[in-house]
Amino acid sequence: MPSTTYRAAAFVAAARQLGVELTVASEQPSTLEATNPAGLLTLDFQDPAHAAEQAREFSAQHPVAAVVGVDDDTAVIAAHVAGRLALRGNPVAAALAARDKHRQRQLLAAAGVPVPRFALHRLDEDPTALAKTVAYPCVLKPLRLSASRGVIRADTVAEFVAAQARLRAIAAAGDGDESFLVEAFIPGYEVALEGLLVNRRLHVLALFDKPDPLDGPFFEETIYVTPSRVPAGLQTAITQVAERAVKALGLVEGPVHAELRYNERGPWLIEVAARPIGGRCSAVLKFGEGGMGKGATLEEVILRHALGMPIPSLQREKQAAGVMMIPIPGAGTLREVRGVEEAKGVPLIEDVQITAHPGEALVPFPEGSRYPGFIFARGETPAAVEDALRAAHARLSFILLPPRPPSSSAAPTRP
Ligand code: ADP
Ligand code: CA
Repeated sequence: MPSTTYRAAAFVAAARQLGVELTVASEQPSTLEATNPAGLLTLDFQDPAHAAEQAREFSAQHPVAAVVGVDDDTAVIAAHVAGRLALRGNPVAAALAARDKHRQRQLLAAAGVPVPRFALHRLDEDPTALAKTVAYPCVLKPLRLSASRGVIRADTVAEFVAAQARLRAIAAAGDGDESFLVEAFIPGYEVALEGLLVNRRLHVLALFDKPDPLDGPFFEETIYVTPSRVPAGLQTAITQVAERAVKALGLVEGPVHAELRYNERGPWLIEVAARPIGGRCSAVLKFGEGGMGKGATLEEVILRHALGMPIPSLQREKQAAGVMMIPIPGAGTLREVRGVEEAKGVPLIEDVQITAHPGEALVPFPEGSRYPGFIFARGETPAAVEDALRAAHARLSFILLPPRPPSSSAAPTRP
């Protein structure tokens, strides 16, 4: 896992719960590595083949029974390690295809999976000339970022030109590639599918509604609620498209997170990733009979699957559950967050986690994508859960100091 991830604690807790010895491998050497040689490992994330070789050397001292990646990048590393150590996992080519939005679109389109029309362009192409060749509305997006960072809808030539400039600036700041995708904008209602592939078979762990409209120009996610209120027949059609997509990419084992839209022309595949749901959101999912949040965690299910341990249940608990990724309240330096206790006191609210810390610079979409926190709720119905999330959010106020004026080098230049 990347050293900066939010995901560590949940996997460490899951391993402890299962009595599994865990080695946390990340790209930054830890000062504790010498004192815990079996528990911490540094891998060369820049060079996945080298990382796999490092894992093989490690495994000669400390036998490794399974490998799990937690995000888009480490899913690729995990595939390399799985190949090198003959462990359960995805083929490297499949993990790479899931990782690269253009490669993914090519494979899905070739397999006849419904995806938006798409074209690859270079960021240094003349924006005005390019904008005149595009059909609107369209979506511009970087090839290898995540959490909707840099994903921008454009309805006109002028909006396209402005959006391309923003993608250039994101790339110039060190994130992203020389190319970007231009896609047809697919209108419709969006859902997220959380799944687990077991020997090529996709098990749907949860289908989430995203009840807030995602019409752009930016695509900041907010509420995820499950079970979905989409009619059962449509859910089946959505699941079938996701199944065809994972097959087309060649994914065979482990967690998948997919976004799909549907409209009068049916379901559309927006994206499949070979990783579990991100951030802190996985806490919303509990499996088996515990009830009211007491069941097994998603991370326990993922570790059991990777290790070939029996999985008691892939069935989510009966209650409805939801999470709100708290919208980024604006640009500025966070001074304080008020109302957290009041928000926690709202009925059905299970937890309010503020992950941004005082002094942190908050960057709105599309340049930013780091949510300042998460709100969790559980209840009898999806509607009640959604209402509770909104009510809790309404209790919060974020006090920001204005952003520092841009330094002269970062000042926007006029075209
Ligand atoms: P990321 O990896 O950053 O999440 P996605 O390709 O999943 O990138 O896009 C993020 C969000 O942007 C999607 O969840 C969806 O709401 C919106 N989006 C992306 N592409 C399209 C499209 N072609 N049509 C409509 N909405 C889109
Ligand atoms: Ca996505």
